[in-house]
Amino acid sequence: MNYDVIVIGGGHNGLICAAYLARAGRKVLVLERRHVLGGAAVTEEIHPGFKYSVCSYVVSLLRPEIIRELDLPKHGLEILPLDGTFTPMPDGDYLWRVNDHARTRREIARHSKLDAEAYEEYGKAMVDMGRFVKPILTMTPPDPTSLDPRGLGDLLSIARRFRALSDADKYNQVQLMTMSAIDFLDQWFETGVLKATMAASGIIGTFLGVRSPGTAYVLLHHYMGEIDGAFRSWGLSRGGTGAISDAIAGAAREAGVEIRTEAAVSRILTKSGAAVGVVLANGDELRARTIASSVDPNLTFLKMVGAEQLPGEFVDDVRRYKFRGSSGKVNLALDALPDFTSLRGAGPHLRGAISISPAVDYMERAYDDAKYGRYSRRPYIDVVIPSLTDPSVAPPGKHVMSCFVQYAPYHLKEGTWDDHREAFGDTVIDTLAEYAPNIRNIILHRQVLTPLDIEREFGLTEGNIFQGELTLEQLFFLRPAPGWAQYRTPLRNLYMCGSATHPGGGIMGAPGRNAAAAILRRGG
Ligand SMILES: Cc1cc2nc3c(=O)[nH]c(=O)nc-3n(C[C@H](O)[C@H](O)[C@H](O)COP(=O)(O)OP(=O)(O)OC[C@H]3O[C@@H](n4cnc5c(N)ncnc54)[C@H](O)[C@@H]3O)c2cc1C
Repeated sequence: MNYDVIVIGGGHNGLICAAYLARAGRKVLVLERRHVLGGAAVTEEIHPGFKYSVCSYVVSLLRPEIIRELDLPKHGLEILPLDGTFTPMPDGDYLWRVNDHARTRREIARHSKLDAEAYEEYGKAMVDMGRFVKPILTMTPPDPTSLDPRGLGDLLSIARRFRALSDADKYNQVQLMTMSAIDFLDQWFETGVLKATMAASGIIGTFLGVRSPGTAYVLLHHYMGEIDGAFRSWGLSRGGTGAISDAIAGAAREAGVEIRTEAAVSRILTKSGAAVGVVLANGDELRARTIASSVDPNLTFLKMVGAEQLPGEFVDDVRRYKFRGSSGKVNLALDALPDFTSLRGAGPHLRGAISISPAVDYMERAYDDAKYGRYSRRPYIDVVIPSLTDPSVAPPGKHVMSCFVQYAPYHLKEGTWDDHREAFGDTVIDTLAEYAPNIRNIILHRQVLTPLDIEREFGLTEGNIFQGELTLEQLFFLRPAPGWAQYRTPLRNLYMCGSATHPGGGIMGAPGRNAAAAILRRGG
């Protein structure tokens, strides 16, 4: 049977792209390699009774227009608030920020009165910056080297909006694009633990440290979800992040999309410079007028198409595209809750994020290890206990704990990740035990994901969680390659629709939606 469009990959972006195309009347097939949909947004019962959000674990970036247009709540999407960030410190103190501004202000004032004042100002400035950047998220990036009137119009609108910013916001915007997270935050704050915890969002998914230029922008990327008013900050999806993918799949099926799992694509078929179909790992050939790939450029172009089918310059750009996975994940099934020495008991501080980021130097040292090819001896860890907010993910009285860990560099100086997996898991537990000593005694099961596991299991090259780093040289009209940021590729009828395209990674859905619009505009 022939299709109008075949989408490669059933992660959330592939599913979103498929849903929009089917709603526009196209006959669409989604092919997913794994037995389960969702890609990096997936829930799996790895240990009986415990549902892990195996990779991504919190949501804030998912575009509100997608939730609305695909009517995701009708298909089961429910976002629960994740309130606050608790940062325990080795000296027995802590910093605990919550969504209640007055309380957070008092808490920060305990550390520094000046910082408590600056915190409000900072929040306002970031929201302004976010408002400036937000319309860019839904834009097909203009190509500044082209005279295409549509692209020139978009560039002009960005320039006009930049001009309309206040002077302070103009400077902030340029600083965000160029500075390190810590240099940027140093301009506002003096408390180390506050800066370290805030800077953490600047390094997630990149092989950079909190003092590396360019990390300030990623602070903004992570702030973006806060400005929509849909949910004010990070949240949890009931049933884990896989429930987001399932809701999107429900909307896609309702629109007529056919979805096959355990259907790995091994090759993209081409004829006279155009994509005409795919070959599955089992040898089946499927044809379509248009192919949309939601997997990364390495898999799409170098593995599925083949360098010999593509212009040399483009292949060079694809080879230069940086993955450099730097994160790991440890998922735990717990018999009881961790008890932090700096704030005892099962209080509300456990219901938000728990950040192991006690000082700026701690964060930078964690990066020092990675620079020289080893995982951090004392890593940055972002912990969430989703079962406290969503009891459906664990048996009564038991808990699931998600630990996102950095740094875990894909390329190790000595040995392989297969040699180091369990030692890496031990390092994470040892680090947590310095703050919550009971952790060792309450673990019923542990799943350790190294960047190599993330690559093998989820098809993310080098284990990069965003299908390629979110660094400035790979964003907007440069993502995934200069001249090819408009979801098109050098092969006619082959499009990209995953996180390796603008505006990048995270459970955001914008690449899938933007790509569907680009395909429809070009008559695909
Ligand atoms: C450990 C980790 C933690 C993260 N934490 C967060 C978080 O808390 N919040 C957040 O917003 N984001 C987080 N992210 C990032 C976010 O999950 C991803 O950016 C996003 O899910 C990517 O979606 P996608 O649809 O673009 O691609 P993917 O999810 O990568 O989907 C691509 C799909 O293609 C499939 N595939 C691969 N090869 C083939 C083939 N040959 N044939 C057919 N199908 C194939 C894959 O199995 C996969 O399902 C995290 C990611 C990881 C890995």
